[in-house]
Amino acid sequence: MIELRQVSKVYPNQTKGLNNINLTFEQGEFVAVVGLSGAGKSTLLRSINRLHDISEGDILINGNSITSAEGHELRMIRRDIGMIFQSFNLVKRSTVLRNVLAGRVGYHSTLRTIFGRFPKEDVDLAFEALERVNILEKAYSRADQLSGGQQQRVAIARVLAQEAKIILADEPVASLDPLTTKQVMDDLKRINQELGITTIVNLHFVDLARQYATRIVGLRAGEVVFDGPVAEATDER
Ligand code: ADP
Ligand code: ADP
Repeated sequence: MIELRQVSKVYPNQTKGLNNINLTFEQGEFVAVVGLSGAGKSTLLRSINRLHDISEGDILINGNSITSAEGHELRMIRRDIGMIFQSFNLVKRSTVLRNVLAGRVGYHSTLRTIFGRFPKEDVDLAFEALERVNILEKAYSRADQLSGGQQQRVAIARVLAQEAKIILADEPVASLDPLTTKQVMDDLKRINQELGITTIVNLHFVDLARQYATRIVGLRAGEVVFDGPVAEATDER
């Protein structure tokens, strides 16, 4: 469902982010991408969602090239892909509910969602998403009044409200303590199992990858140095 074909990414300053990557992710997989800082994990996720353009190669999402897509087609492909970041990326002064409703923006004209109110179906979806990550009681709290772990669960709820088929999580637990890390990883895993959402998670620590993922992709200097089931992953990164 996600296919990277000979993908390279060279940044404007000539730094190589990815060097000739070939990877395929199947529907429903829970994959951890591991590697030291600077290995290319973030570049990989940003390439899949086309938050930046790649320099060479092609990336297919359900058979459609996101590399060459434009306008409406690009928006339709992106609707299926939800991003989760280390820094949560919520609108801090807005309510939790409004942050989750932001996941619905791609389903409406821009004007409607900036100035208007969302249809009831969207609000229902948002509440359902909040319930799924056990944070329903915070719906009307301001996002910045929540703990880090709660904010990350709001970000997960936003992706659920988006009805994304793919979750790309870029070091989602890097700024969380061990207990909250477990809660957020448990949520991601449960959602993957219950809804079959293809999940790719960048992780700094291999032990977390082992605990949660079924497949580990190891990156080093922009290249895939390991790709296989968790049981075969060694501590070498
Ligand atoms: P990771 O997520 O594994 O820490 P990154 O994908 O962020 O790795 O980085 C891969 C390489 O690309 C590193 O050498 C990094 O310095 C470089 N890089 C990342 N973002 C940029 C950028 N915007 N401009 C230039 N180089 C970048
Ligand atoms: P507004 O911020 O539009 O004045 P209200 O004061 O009526 O909203 O309601 C408070 C909160 O209710 C909003 O901040 C938002 O989180 C939520 N809300 C309820 N229904 C909707 C909806 N249909 N669209 C957007 N937000 C809604």
